[in-house]
Amino acid sequence: MIEFSRPFIGGGFRRAHSGDTFTTINPSTGEAIADVEKCDGTDVDAAVEAARSACSRWRFMKAEQRASVLRGIAQALRNHNDELAMLDTLDAGIPYVETKQHDVARSAALFEYSASVIDKLYGNTVPIDPKYMSLTFREPFGVVAAITPWNAPLANAVISVAPALACGNTVVLKPASESPLSALMLAKVCADAGLPEGVLNVIPGPGSDVGMKLASHPGVDKLCFTGSVETGQQILQCAAENMKECNMELGGKTPVVVFEDADIEAAAKAVSFSAFRRQGQICTAAARLFLHEKIADRFIDLLLAHVRELRVGDPTDMNTQIGPMISLRQRASVLEYIAKGRKEGATLLIGGGPPETPALARGAYMTPTIFTDVDHSSSLAQDEIFGPVLCIFRFSSEDEVLRTANDVRYGLGASVWTKGIERAHFFVRGFEAGLVWVNCINLSHPAIPAGGFKMSGLGLENGMEAMLRTYSRSKTAWFNLGDRAEV
Ligand code: NAD
Repeated sequence: MIEFSRPFIGGGFRRAHSGDTFTTINPSTGEAIADVEKCDGTDVDAAVEAARSACSRWRFMKAEQRASVLRGIAQALRNHNDELAMLDTLDAGIPYVETKQHDVARSAALFEYSASVIDKLYGNTVPIDPKYMSLTFREPFGVVAAITPWNAPLANAVISVAPALACGNTVVLKPASESPLSALMLAKVCADAGLPEGVLNVIPGPGSDVGMKLASHPGVDKLCFTGSVETGQQILQCAAENMKECNMELGGKTPVVVFEDADIEAAAKAVSFSAFRRQGQICTAAARLFLHEKIADRFIDLLLAHVRELRVGDPTDMNTQIGPMISLRQRASVLEYIAKGRKEGATLLIGGGPPETPALARGAYMTPTIFTDVDHSSSLAQDEIFGPVLCIFRFSSEDEVLRTANDVRYGLGASVWTKGIERAHFFVRGFEAGLVWVNCINLSHPAIPAGGFKMSGLGLENGMEAMLRTYSRSKTAWFNLGDRAEV
């Protein structure tokens, strides 16, 4: 069923220069899905060159025409919903019920939202002297490189591709090697929907080669990276070579604080899904749960009841809520954290290893895992495990819990549950995080900006802010109006 396994450069699928391939694996079975042609530096040069050649035509197309192409892509994505959804399910183990009902629809909505703001990227005139007209206007950067992770392959690619194109940039996309298939199909869908050749190029290949070459490439004007902090740091060093501007969407360790006056039932249900949905492989997944001591025991009982009901299984089955992790390697890393946490005295409440179901034995499956009695300075509490592991802490005072919630290097998401409006505001202001949810968690929308504080990133995705700050830049022009400036 895999039609597209070659790089997409300059409007068509091409043979990769190296002649090598890499195998993409179904994490639910351990079986090979496809051999994908592996790009190298020569393909990076070709993709950047194709994107540069397409810049002028795309950038100076009338706004309405560019918007119409993007709306056409949104519709084409919907037409191919089930194929794209199945590619991400097979490649990344994400339950089909989610990719089919959420990921492709979200990607189409991102293209539509981006199309809708193209003619709203206004500049300003600044009235400082009648002899001069000074004005600012928005320009695309030129070639945007997007380097993306595997945890939501299509949606994480489109979150950069759609607004970058809307602002008049051309794009070179490097998807994660674990999950390159939907990005290749995206290129084909966009081309068939009328995106001119060279405007979107997709080059699968290793981060250490293709990713790094893109990050330091002098022909790339802006770099948008979604992935881990460590990779982000390497990319920033490469990008410094030619002063490339970078947008960084990195990891997190989301705290959830639940007070005694909260809707405990709703909070327990929300936390059980946030922590374990997609096996905890979501940058804003609930990772540290802080429970007020008055409700802690009751909350834990409710939470465990919800977690026991989560259906872990074959991701292609529409009844499955939790599929496998991305790989056996990622699971091994999670198991190491669990072993270390137990050794350091944390108490395991549930889970802790692969499920015992024989049908799941070949896949990278894990059971949802919850610890209490965790030392907040330990790696269980401090590191982004990126797996289905939740740590529970008890607290008695607002100040104490806010201090502990902020005591990590990350600052992506944070959630507080309370009926008190003053308390809610105190936490909204006090959380050192770019995204705060009150009595909810993990909500996102193409129109709502999102980005991380501290080590969780630089810059923003989504909303008008991303259009203005991430995908376009301001230019200033002075017009000398000459002697007839005064009437
Ligand atoms: P990763 O950092 O290992 O890889 C991300 C991408 O970078 C991949 O395409 C990879 O091939 C490439 N890459 C790897 N090494 C590189 C290098 N040296 N130079 C250039 N490119 C390189 O991340 P991952 O394991 O694919 O994804 C998980 C991470 O992504 C988690 O930390 C998660 O929190 C983060 N994430 C963040 C957000 C957000 O919006 N903040 C969203 C999704 C995922």
